[in-house]
Amino acid sequence: SKGRVAEDCIFCQIAAGKIPSEVVYQDDRVVAFKDIRPVAPVHILIIPRKHIPDLTAITPEDGDLIGYIHLVAVKLAREFGLADRGFRVVNNCKEEGGQAVYHLHFHLLGGRQLQILG
Ligand code: 5GP
Ligand code: ZN
Repeated sequence: SKGRVAEDCIFCQIAAGKIPSEVVYQDDRVVAFKDIRPVAPVHILIIPRKHIPDLTAITPEDGDLIGYIHLVAVKLAREFGLADRGFRVVNNCKEEGGQAVYHLHFHLLGGRQLQILG
């Protein structure tokens, strides 16, 4: 299930523009859009266009992509006024990590004081 698109994947459909979302950045490799149920004033999801089910499915060839997602996170953090005050980038991996959507994504969270993880 690791490939260019997965027909039944909601985030593949968002990346393809087949399901509407509030896109804040996109290019040939990634799409960033606002989370539909934000838990912070800024809550953006950054996804690769490539369907990767979860973080454990990355391979060495995905290394540049994972790094690039973090460059995009910092760019968006600057644009949304978070670069100085601080923010969080989070990946939830599989069941006990709290993953609900099985297309790799990173949450960019900020705009309020975030609590220590537990
Ligand atoms: P996870 O728990 O998998 O790390 O996070 C999935 C996130 O995707 C959740 O924060 C949830 O609100 C968000 N989400 C789920 N479905 C949609 C959708 O259709 N559109 C948008 N914009 N966000 C979604
Ligand atoms: Zn997908």
